[in-house]
Amino acid sequence: MGMDQEKTYKAYLNGQWVKTDREIEIVNPATEQVFAKVFAIDGHQIQMALDAAEASFPSWRARTAKERGILLHRVADELKRRRDEIAHTITLENGKPQAQSKGEVDMSEDHLRWFAEEAHRSYGRTIPPQAHGKRHLVVKTPIGTVGAIAPWNFPLVLSVRKVAPALAAGCPVILKPASQTPLCAIALAECMETAGVPGGVFQLAIGNAAMIGDAFLTNPICRKISFTGSTKVGQELIRGAAHQVKPLSLELGGQAPLLIFEDCDLDRAVQETLIAKFRNTGQSCIAANRIYVQKTIHDEFLHKFVAAVKQLKTGNGVDDGMDVGPMINQHALDGALLQIEDAVKHGGKVMAGGKRMGTRGYFLEPTVIDGVGDDSLCMLEETFAPVAPVTSFDTEEEAIERANRSPYGLSAYAMTRDIGRMFRLAEQIEAGTLGINDGAPTTSQSPFGGVKQSGWGRELGTEGLDAFLETKHVSIGGV
Ligand code: NAP
Repeated sequence: MGMDQEKTYKAYLNGQWVKTDREIEIVNPATEQVFAKVFAIDGHQIQMALDAAEASFPSWRARTAKERGILLHRVADELKRRRDEIAHTITLENGKPQAQSKGEVDMSEDHLRWFAEEAHRSYGRTIPPQAHGKRHLVVKTPIGTVGAIAPWNFPLVLSVRKVAPALAAGCPVILKPASQTPLCAIALAECMETAGVPGGVFQLAIGNAAMIGDAFLTNPICRKISFTGSTKVGQELIRGAAHQVKPLSLELGGQAPLLIFEDCDLDRAVQETLIAKFRNTGQSCIAANRIYVQKTIHDEFLHKFVAAVKQLKTGNGVDDGMDVGPMINQHALDGALLQIEDAVKHGGKVMAGGKRMGTRGYFLEPTVIDGVGDDSLCMLEETFAPVAPVTSFDTEEEAIERANRSPYGLSAYAMTRDIGRMFRLAEQIEAGTLGINDGAPTTSQSPFGGVKQSGWGRELGTEGLDAFLETKHVSIGGV
């Protein structure tokens, strides 16, 4: 693709790259400069995209899983070949440090390869008959055209997490990337085209979110919506889905607790907490949001953690060696500063950072606040920023109770070496993912998703493929 100054990227519909009447400007959050433009589609074009997807469905589903898998491997080959350039694009549009962007491309490649293989295993089953002369089969069939909606924080990998299993299952997909980060989705479309994925099978819908979301909800061609984003928009989709009883997979907001117990390996706990909190500039749905430290080790942990946070390098993600990049926009930066101010008002003490950095780019100093009250905004709402609120607890029971005291339940973390405690936490913590001594628990093979207001359904793992398959019972009599 090549990031020419203010190049305008075309829309990708039914295998064609087309100009449209509207353009969206893409801003680099490290410089606040517009560096590219993208043609946005209109209401007529999204309906045409749905028609093209529908037309492509019979021949795509008729391919064998092996044939679809071969194509997905080719897409993965393309991503790998273009790894550094696509990673650079992610850094320009999202701001994250380049090493993390490369990690995102690598994980996207891994997702594609894993689902290319998992497609072979969309097994049904046979069930012993209840009556003579009958046979019962369970067959899995692709659900049909999928509308996939992705956010800006992991713009490539969260798109691939939907697109790869949908295609593997035999479904055409229309991907709507976030308007702030559509360029890596364009790169993905280029990889699809080069790999030979048919034009109607993978298309892009870049443009007005409400208009595209509405088309997915109201056009019966779209048989499933897979959404990652805020709980607020997830709730709107639930309301909109009622009319056609449209199936939804929802990966929504998080507010992850991180529990540090006195028996942990303290240095490891510091390192894993740094990853869980500051990876992706804290703008991760699974970011540690509330850090609870057992009182007996609170001071020692805080001392080591603050020292480690002060070592983090913050700056433009294209520069070498950065750990933390800019936040996505002014609104996100303002929200983080408000949470810091509120935490201090509620008795919190800023131990590191706490302020905006410079005047150009949406940079926030990596921040640690100690003694944060449970009624502070940052303990109640998703923070989505490099801000680490720390508080303390006495007992395991108390820690679990406070960890679960949230309407969200996407992920949670615990630092402990006590095997009994690991099992108790595994059973009692209310979250879709629990990382024990592990600040980066996501893998292609393991299910990912939330409980409570963090969403419906699972991505990745066998569950991730199943999300795009129907389960049909076939009963055969007269055998
Ligand atoms: P967002 O505002 O909900 O946007 C996410 C996507 O939805 C974007 O593509 C957006 O398009 C689109 N959208 C907005 N309004 C819509 C509507 N009415 N109908 C259909 N689509 C609509 O969320 P965000 O601020 O980009 O992302 C941050 C949130 O995502 C956080 O809450 C985070 O926790 C959550 N998240 C969850 C996971 C997970 O796996 N559970 C992973 C990452 C992020 P536009 O960009 O065009 O507005």
